[in-house]
Amino acid sequence: MNLLGLDRTGLERFFAEHGEKPFRARQLLQWIHQRGVADFADMTDLSLKLREQLVSEASVLAPEVLREQISGDGTIKWLMAVSGGNAVETVYIPEAGRGTLCISSQIGCMLNCTFCSTATQGFSRNLSSDEIVGQVWRAARRIEALHGEDRRITNVVFMGMGEPMLNLDAVRPSLSLLRDDLAYGLAARRVTISTAGVVPGIDGMADGDEFALAVSLHAAENELRSRLVPLNRKYPVEELIEACKRFVRARARRSVTFEYTMIDGVNDRPEHARALVRRLSCLPSKINLIPFNPFPGTPFHCSSDDAIFRFQEITRAAGLITTIRKTRGDDIDAACGQLVGKLLSPNQRRVIVQQQLARQAVAS
Ligand code: SAH
Repeated sequence: MNLLGLDRTGLERFFAEHGEKPFRARQLLQWIHQRGVADFADMTDLSLKLREQLVSEASVLAPEVLREQISGDGTIKWLMAVSGGNAVETVYIPEAGRGTLCISSQIGCMLNCTFCSTATQGFSRNLSSDEIVGQVWRAARRIEALHGEDRRITNVVFMGMGEPMLNLDAVRPSLSLLRDDLAYGLAARRVTISTAGVVPGIDGMADGDEFALAVSLHAAENELRSRLVPLNRKYPVEELIEACKRFVRARARRSVTFEYTMIDGVNDRPEHARALVRRLSCLPSKINLIPFNPFPGTPFHCSSDDAIFRFQEITRAAGLITTIRKTRGDDIDAACGQLVGKLLSPNQRRVIVQQQLARQAVAS
């Protein structure tokens, strides 16, 4: 049993099944997530008997780093191995006063957004909660090794590979660990779940699940949006906006952020900006304009600076808070929409399989 992905409730259940008191869960959370300890033998405030029992029955296994790339601007991208010879990408974006970790929720993606490179690799499977939280755990260890106490993870965004709202069983315990004071202790506004518009997913998060919601809109009208985000045929813009309203109402959250990738000649004209303003008039919203990031084989180009500023001006004049996302880490293909868990070579696969077998042998 890998304890890395169990939130407080999950760990309490685990210990109850082993005839232990619930407070063991709290101890474990701090050892694993705050002190970064993966070896039960080092958890000195547990009884020797319990430590031995945990060593024989459980493990704390995070994805291994297959490759680490550091951009000229300090952005770090990791390729991390997950089971089955797969790999996912995780990105750390340092800024003055904060450090944002962008994590993946699936291997590949099934939504086929036409301007996203993750779509080109197809869909393999959902990540488990230990693979999702494991990215945070591993990144925290690597950042500590590289920068000591100088840098930390202050924000986490589910904006890597995959659609988090199609993997709620794993995303919800991950969110709970990110928020738990005994684990990562991040405030709700510092954990963002980004969705392409899975309406039942937005509704399916319990009212108690507090997080910041980002919606990848990219177009305000159904016809254009369906071409960019095929999921729109299933959940059209009107329904999506209604779900956002329910989200804001149920949680007293201040607003929803709408991501809008700026694609030259496709969705970046003044009439598109005006349609967006009309669409968002009934909902407290912020807009984040993302300059399109190219990838091999795409027919699209990034909008001109002029078009982006004009778009921003129109939405601002209507009273919306509109920011332009800085492109980070593009020299290492770490920017939005550029993440692909590159298919592994047979040799890389062999290495991963051997590592996994070795770890399983240690764990069992
Ligand atoms: N599936 C979720 C999570 C992925 S988030 C979602 O769609 O929200 C990744 C963000 O990057 C999304 O807003 C996505 O629309 C955007 N994106 C995808 N491809 C891009 C590209 N080539 N250039 C810029 N942004 C892109």
